[in-house]
Amino acid sequence: MFDNLSDKLDKAMHVLKGHGQITEVNVAETLKEVRRALLDADVNFKTAKEFTNTVKEKALGQNVLTSLQPGQLMVKLVKDELTKLMGGDTAGIDLSGSPSVILMSGLQGSGKTTFSGKLANYLKTKKTKKPLLVACDVYRPAAINQLHVVGEQIKVEVYSEEGNKNPVQIAQNAIAHAKQNGNNAVIIDTAGRLAIDEAMMTEIADIHKAIQPNETLFVVDAMTGQDAVNTAKTFNERLNFDGVVLTKLDGDTRGGAAISIKSVVNKPIKFIGTGEKMDAIDVFHPARMADRILG
Ligand code: GDP
Repeated sequence: MFDNLSDKLDKAMHVLKGHGQITEVNVAETLKEVRRALLDADVNFKTAKEFTNTVKEKALGQNVLTSLQPGQLMVKLVKDELTKLMGGDTAGIDLSGSPSVILMSGLQGSGKTTFSGKLANYLKTKKTKKPLLVACDVYRPAAINQLHVVGEQIKVEVYSEEGNKNPVQIAQNAIAHAKQNGNNAVIIDTAGRLAIDEAMMTEIADIHKAIQPNETLFVVDAMTGQDAVNTAKTFNERLNFDGVVLTKLDGDTRGGAAISIKSVVNKPIKFIGTGEKMDAIDVFHPARMADRILG
């Protein structure tokens, strides 16, 4: 994960090797490389600039107070700042409702349906919940079938309504069904489009308003870099979502989305997807991710 970024940051830290102390000159040289590594990883320009400015201030301020070698100090500062940038603490999801309703949003192909299944499986096995998966894509029968296949695989019930073209109604009916059947977590998979369009936004906003979910999660493909961040911004403006799910982190992704999304939309990444299988889901821990990035 993020091998290229890790390599480049490692090389940037080497600039300080052999220096007895941090100076304006060697810190500027190191951070120039750090900034370049972040930009190459598709972190947006403003985020990268603010990041290196903060690290610079801290490095120059703390230099005299620490017994760490300049290289070690810089690794620590970069790690701490990366952790902060990615949200600081681990953000959980709200499972308080009865049932707790979780609405999934995102573009088609982002991994929404796969993640809905993974989350259902996670809630069932780790949180001993009895989830219900809901198919609200009224345009693509294949999407409904896909959710049924996922449900069968993980032995979770899937609610769908053949012929009903009203996703708001389906979502409401599903919640009523869950109440009757003792499902205490309802995961609603919605329709996505290949690109943002007004009809999709209105539809998901209508579902959101009608059902008032405990959690609205925005699913995005990490491979799409800054596009992921821009899409997140648009969805957040309409839905004020609670958290981000970053999928396909097992692929050859550069890391920009993971690093910038929190600072741009001010919503935490809550889960990551690390493969196509139903158990390829992890709670996102900013500090652990920063550790991995810095090796
Ligand atoms: P949706 O259109 O948003 O519902 O997206 P899907 O759930 O159908 O996923 C689109 C494709 O991405 C499928 O081929 C999934 O198997 C794949 N996919 C989803 N999540 C991940 C992931 O975390 N890693 C990898 N490698 N593939 C994923």
